[in-house]
Amino acid sequence: MKNWSWKKIFICALAFVLCSTAGSLFLLSRRAEEILAPVRLPERRLVLDAGHGGEDGGAVSRTGVPESVINLAVVQKLDQLLGFYGVAPVLLRDSDVSLHDPSASTLREKKVSDLHNRVAAIEATENATLISIHQNTFPDPAYHGAQVFFRPGEDSRALALLVQDSLRALDPANKRIPAKIPDTVYLMKHITCPAVLVECGFLSNAGEEERLRSGGYQTKLALCVAGAWLRSGEIPPAAG
Ligand SMILES: [Zn+2]
Repeated sequence: MKNWSWKKIFICALAFVLCSTAGSLFLLSRRAEEILAPVRLPERRLVLDAGHGGEDGGAVSRTGVPESVINLAVVQKLDQLLGFYGVAPVLLRDSDVSLHDPSASTLREKKVSDLHNRVAAIEATENATLISIHQNTFPDPAYHGAQVFFRPGEDSRALALLVQDSLRALDPANKRIPAKIPDTVYLMKHITCPAVLVECGFLSNAGEEERLRSGGYQTKLALCVAGAWLRSGEIPPAAG
């Protein structure tokens, strides 16, 4: 009887110690969470936009290739490359389609609806940063070289500088610097997140057009943009 009482006391004491240790650990972890919360940055989510698609091919190259096809190829390579680094971007389109509503019938209606839906998809993505891929053309075929544009805002500008700098590896003679996106670009005017638009090159320049059509060069472009995105993670976001 006496033995049993001691056993009971010992079990009670052990239970008390275990409960209080678990309680302390719980309080400690809550406290750590509170302390760390203010410095924890929200996870950035990369949204990749392959410009145009479907009936809207965008600019057409010297040999008749629509930019929508090249834009998509670069975006798909970017997606694959970033996947190796554990980055899972949101792709606004991953096939040759326009993102218009079924109710849109004319080409104009489809284009407007497509842009509305792209804006809605970007805005619905939390902590989004947009990289939009396009190809350039100009009446004078001498023009060549990638150029990066950015939405007004320090985060967009910082990313644009990194992408432009990264692309210089493919064409060291390209002295272009990132420029602000004109207000007339509907998509960029109606979104609120950091965003850059990459004009990868000129489809109107014979040499560049040939390169832009090749899978190898598209991979190099994707590598440059992916590298810039990964480097941008090292820069703290602008305040406010
Ligand atoms: Zn375009």
